[in-house]
This record gives sequence, C-alpha cells and structure tokens, in this order.
Amino acid sequence: MRPRGGRQYGILASVPIIHWFRRDLRIADNTALNAGVRDGGGAVVPVFVLDDKLLKGRDIAPVRVQFMLESLRALDEGLRQRGAQLVVLRGDPAAELVRLAQATGADAVYFNRDYTPAARRRDKRVTQALQSAGVRVESFKDLVIFEEDELLTTAGQPYTVFTPYKKAWLSRITPIAPEIGDWKLAPLPNLQSLISNLQSLVPHLPSATDLGFTNTQDGPKGGEPEAMRLLKRFRDSGALKAYSTQRDFPGIEGTSRLSPHLRFGTISPRQCYAAAVSTLSYAFPAKRSFSPAASDAKKEGADAWISELIWREFYMQILYHFPHANHANFNRAYDAVRWGSGDAALDEERFAAWCEGRTGYPIVDAAMRQLNQTGWMHNRTRMIVASFLTKDLLLDWRLGESYFMRKLADGDPASNNGGWQWAASTGTDAQPYFRIFNPKLQSERFDPDGAYIKRWVPELARVPVEYIHEPAAMPPLVQAQAGCIIGRDYPAPIVDHAEQKEEILRRFRAVKAG
Ligand SMILES: Cc1cc2nc3c(=O)[nH]c(=O)nc-3n(C[C@H](O)[C@H](O)[C@H](O)COP(=O)(O)OP(=O)(O)OC[C@H]3O[C@@H](n4cnc5c(N)ncnc54)[C@H](O)[C@@H]3O)c2cc1C
Repeated sequence: MRPRGGRQYGILASVPIIHWFRRDLRIADNTALNAGVRDGGGAVVPVFVLDDKLLKGRDIAPVRVQFMLESLRALDEGLRQRGAQLVVLRGDPAAELVRLAQATGADAVYFNRDYTPAARRRDKRVTQALQSAGVRVESFKDLVIFEEDELLTTAGQPYTVFTPYKKAWLSRITPIAPEIGDWKLAPLPNLQSLISNLQSLVPHLPSATDLGFTNTQDGPKGGEPEAMRLLKRFRDSGALKAYSTQRDFPGIEGTSRLSPHLRFGTISPRQCYAAAVSTLSYAFPAKRSFSPAASDAKKEGADAWISELIWREFYMQILYHFPHANHANFNRAYDAVRWGSGDAALDEERFAAWCEGRTGYPIVDAAMRQLNQTGWMHNRTRMIVASFLTKDLLLDWRLGESYFMRKLADGDPASNNGGWQWAASTGTDAQPYFRIFNPKLQSERFDPDGAYIKRWVPELARVPVEYIHEPAAMPPLVQAQAGCIIGRDYPAPIVDHAEQKEEILRRFRAVKAG
C-alpha cells in the first residue's frame, strides 16, 4: 500500500481511489482499474452509478438494461473474489461521486473515457464537481485502441473515409498483451459502515423490473465470463478462421456475437485484437507483412474481423470529431432530401409494418423479428433493413436509428448512427445514393436456401425454396400446399421495390442538382 499525502483518513489504512465503472464492466485488462489498483496500493472503491437521466432516456432498451445489470452482477462476483465489492449508487453521478469521495476519504476518481457527445458533457460536469470538492480526477483510454486525435490525416484532419483510416490504424498498432488483472484488491475496512449513510446506496443489485422496465426480448447473456466464453468459442471453433467467407450469411453462426460485450466493456478491444492475432502462426503483424506460414484463409479471417473492430473505432472517432452527426446528416448537403410519402398516416402504417416484420419482403421481416425477439440482428440484415426503410419506404433514417436503439442489446450511439447513415447515404463513408440494395437479390445471395427466413418467419416454413425470396409470386395452388395464403397468412409486399427505387433516386438527384 502506498499511503499518500500524509493525510489522516480515520479508519482507512491508505487513501483509496474510486474506480467509476461505466462502459468497462470487467476486471481483466481494465486500464483505469489497473491504474487505480497501482496508485491506491489496492485500496480501490469500485462504484457504478445508476444514472436516472440515462435510465429515463428516450432511446433506452429494456434488453440493454437487463444485459447491463447481468454484467454488473458478474462484475460484483469477480470483485468479491478479489476481496472487494461493487458499490451501486443511484442518482446524478456528479453529486453521488462527490458524496462517495467524502464518505470514504478517497482523494481521486479514476474512469475510462467515453466519446459520445452526451457522455463527454456528463464527464466534464462530473470532473468539475469533483475538482471543486478537492477530488483529483484521472481519465484513461480503454474503450478503443486509438482515440480522439491519435489518428489524423497528414493535414491534421480527422479521417472521414474508412480505408485510409484503417491503413493508418494498422500502421500504428503495436504488440498487445492485455493484462489479466489477477491482482487482489485491499478490502476497505468497514466500507459498508462508511457508506451506509449514503441515501442513494442501492443495497442489492436491482432487476430490470425493479427499475421499471418490462423486458420482452430474449436477449444475450451479460458478464465478463460470458464474453470470454464467446471469444474463445469464436476463436477455437474455426469461425474466426472462416470469418471472411461466412460473416455475410445470417443463417450461419459466422460472427462473434461480441457486440453487446464490446458495447458494455465486458471485453476490451485489445483482448479481441490479441485473440485474432493469436490465431495466426506469425508472431505479430507489425508491418502487416504476414508470414507465408499463415494460411491465406486464416489470415483473411483474422484480417476481416480486425477490420470490423476498426469500423467500430472509425465510427467512434467520427462522432467525437463531428458531434452534429448524432442527430443530423453527417453530409449536410443531404439535409434537403425529402423523406416520407407525403401522407403521414401511410408513413406511420409502413413504419409499423417494418418494425413488426410484416412488409411482405421475407428477408426484411425475418431480420426485424430476429431483432424484436432477441435484441440482436446480423450485420448483413441490419444493412438490408436499413436500406429498405430509407430507400424503399422513403422514411427518415433517424426513425430506424431510434427504433434500433430501443431494441438492440448492443445499441451503441456511434456504430448505430454510422450504420444508419451509411445505409441512408448521408454519412461519411456512405453507400453512394445510386447503389440501392434490392431486398430480393440480397435474400437470394445471402440466404440462398431461406434457412434464416424460415427460422424467423414461421408462416413461410413450408414455402418451396424457389418462392422463399418472393412468396407473393407463388401460384394459388402452391400457396395452398404451403399453408401460406398471401394476404391472409403472410402479407403481399407493401411497396414495389422498382418504383420506390426510382422515387428515391429522383429525390437524391434533385438535391445533387441543387
Ligand atoms: C444500420 C446498422 C446499425 C448498427 N448498429 C450497431 C449498434 O448499435 N451497435 C453495434 O455494436 N454495432 C452496430 N452495427 C454494426 C454491426 O452490425 C454489429 O456490430 C454486428 O452485427 C455485431 O455482431 P457481432 O458481434 O457478431 O460482430 P462481428 O462480426 O463478430 O464483429 C466484431 C465486432 O466488431 C464491431 N463491428 C462489426 N461490424 C461493425 C460495423 N459495421 N460498424 C461498427 N462496428 C462493427 C462490433 O463491435 C462487433 O462486435 C450496425 C450496423 C448497421 C448496418
């Protein structure tokens, strides 16, 4: 232990440091937590603040709250194994952390940085409140491998195109050996009695229902051990190796399913990166000069997956440098694009059909039902449904972005916003407006036997494969044999793709022409 500053702290043997958990709900490879353990000689007060402002936010998802609470429970268990326990407070983090520092005699609060506009505003406010109360604040890079201004163009500007960003990212990466975090925390004597007078202390971790949420989705399991299990499964089952060839097929378990874990930090991007590199037989791809010993397939799998981790950081730095994109088109030139059909009731009806998975386009409906039931959707189908909402239903991307946030366990402001603006063609490195996904062709290509569709749209289970991508084309006799009468058991397409495509192209071209 390292007693600091010669101050007397009553019953505490050394000056503790508060670790404020946020999007880093893990013990291993946690930068701020490791620093706190080091600087406080193990005397760390681990705290999570249930922030009422966030819990009452418009885009909160019960499935995400449940995932977060499960992760907190696992975190508390992990901390207890190391001699500590998670302190859970409820209220405004600024006021709560000041009170906690006063109650425990902590002289510093450590946390890992978050980059969304709302988080940055909150952290500035909390930092000011703590500093005014004489508490030192230190923040750390942890959520990403490269942050803020670490990667800029040669002109000193943020990257707005992915490929050069990725090139810069890869050229700067150095060997990563994530710390395991097998340290012990010094139990803080009488911590409970010290803080039990805090009115906002939550004695037991609440359930989502206790917090007023009704979760109807069968969401992913939270917690650091689960994240580790998924990472190992992904690496050892061969899915990582086959990632570049399998990741686009929603009917195959070809991706890691780590997104809610990366969202809440039950795993770190460094752990993911290190796991990907460890599958290769070369030591380290410092200059991306891969050893010929690593087979091409393996290399492509790991490379493609690392690319996705880089997309995550790309969108994170976009929102950091261009906070306006949070609510507005990144490309302001497209502010003039007209969304909607001109008939508000029709738009509402179409939006409801999209949300509920009854558009008459099987791949879209399967994806939306997967989302509604599980809180997760495959990346390929996220792109398909986002394109469908904006380019086929002509609806504003913000409607879809908000719906996703209310349903996704991995709902992340930066990746979600980036994905939606990519699909709507209003974003940074966006899909050009004239390249529009054809939902039937996408379905034929990425769900050729209709396995994904049949899994999520059971009324199409007996539809012959030649009609699975366009059930409305079934002759009446086939409909009867398949037990699926169009218009009764499954809807006819709510819009005509070819017509809607022409309409959205007209609208974008009109804006382009000025
Ligand atoms: C419209 C739309 C909305 C999206 N919303 C979100 C969101 O709210 N939260 C979210 O985490 N991802 C979002 N994505 C990105 C992507 O779809 C998911 O990250 C991915 O499907 C998660 O599955 P996985 O963990 O199995 O991914 P894997 O394929 O195993 O990829 C590994 C990790 O890389 C990151 N990643 C992968 N693809 C992307 C991507 N295109 N952009 C940014 N990061 C990526 C994720 O953290 C993911 O867990 C969105 C994509 C689109 C098109």
